[in-house]
Order: sequence, then C-alpha cells, then structure tokens
Amino acid sequence: VFITFEGNDGAGKTTVCKGVEAQLKQAGRDVLYTREPGGSRIAEAIRDLLLDPDNTDMDPRCEALLYAASRRQHLVEVILPALAEGKIVLCDRFIDSSLAYQGFARAIGIDAVYAINRFAIDDCMPDATIFLSVSTETGQKRMDLRGDKNRLDLENSAFHQKVRQGYEELIRRYPERITVIDAEPDQETVIKAAMQVVRKVVEP
Ligand code: C5P
Ligand code: MG
Repeated sequence: VFITFEGNDGAGKTTVCKGVEAQLKQAGRDVLYTREPGGSRIAEAIRDLLLDPDNTDMDPRCEALLYAASRRQHLVEVILPALAEGKIVLCDRFIDSSLAYQGFARAIGIDAVYAINRFAIDDCMPDATIFLSVSTETGQKRMDLRGDKNRLDLENSAFHQKVRQGYEELIRRYPERITVIDAEPDQETVIKAAMQVVRKVVEP
C-alpha cells in the first residue's frame, strides 16, 4: 500500500508521517517511511541542487524536470522494491507537490507537470494521499520554529498562498484519492486523524 503525505511547508508532514510510521510499527506492520525530494543517493544529490539557496536562477521547467528525475530514481530504487515486498510505504511528498509547487505556484501548468511526471512514475500513483491543511500563517510559524534555510524559504507568503491554491485544485480533481485533514491542532490529534485514513486503506 502506497500512502503519500502532502501539504504546504510547515504543515507538519514529516512529524505526522513519522508518528503514523511509529504506530504502524507498534501494531507489527511492515512499514517504510521515505521522503521526497531525495530518499536515495542520486535523488538526494538532486535534492541538494534543488534546494541550494545559491540556485535562485534556476528555470522553473528545469526545476520541474529535476523533481521528476529525483522522483523517478527514488521510485525505482526505494518505493517499488518496498511495495513488491508487501510493505506499507509512507512517502513524505510525491507527485502532488510537483503539481502544486511547479505546476500551479510556478505557473508551468498542472497538466504540463503531470505529463512529465507520468513519464517519471508510469502508473504508480498513490493508493491514498493525506493532505495536511494549515493556514499559511501557521505554516510560516512552524517553518520559523525549525529554522529552515533552503531556497524555498526565500519565497514570500504570496508564493505559499499559491501553493495552497494549487493543492485546493488537486483536492477538487482527485476527491477519492486525497483526504484533507485539519493540521492546525496538536500533533497527537493530527496523527490520530491520519491513522483513521491509513486504517481505511491498509487491510487489517
Ligand atoms: O518537505 P520538505 O520541507 O523536505 O521539502 C523541501 C523543500 O522543497 C520545501 O521547501 C518545499 O517547499 C520544496 N519543494 C518544492 N517543490 C516540490 C517539492 C518540494 O519547491 N515539488
Ligand atoms: Mg518535512
């Protein structure tokens, strides 16, 4: 079973993903947590390129292609083998991040970015996607708290607002796959809500 976690910067994807991982492990399930961009040696090298604060001159389509390239490598090296072994795979960001950030926020177009990602992932879409919903203010506060220093932190709140609108469009397009969870409350509450979604797609 392939489950992805999506949301704006500072939504708490990593925390919730790891919380879900811990609970599934405790229940004796075979689970793998992994993240994007990165998650394998080559994919991490591409991540470094993507997030280097010096690369402010990166062209948006170059950025979209690099994300797709990193996704491909991570899929082939990490996700597909784990799924073949019957593991529950929890992935911190996947295709929807590209559709929202590069497709919508960077205005390349959701359909154009979807097309290059189809090439990258074939038909390996997530079985379920959990969207962690926070206001851009909360996202910004949580980002400040962890003191992120990547290229995206140079983006203003208008950019993050656009990312949010991109995700809203995806939620309209894929209502069966994407479940929205209110991620404003404390992490325990959010993890509990995420576990309810996970239980529906993971066989008992
Ligand atoms: O999820 P995480 O915080 O590790 O993501 C790293 C950075 O990459 C974030 O700042 C996020 O905004 C950015 N990103 C992006 N486009 C994507 C995926 C992530 O700009 N498709
Ligand atoms: Mg994170």
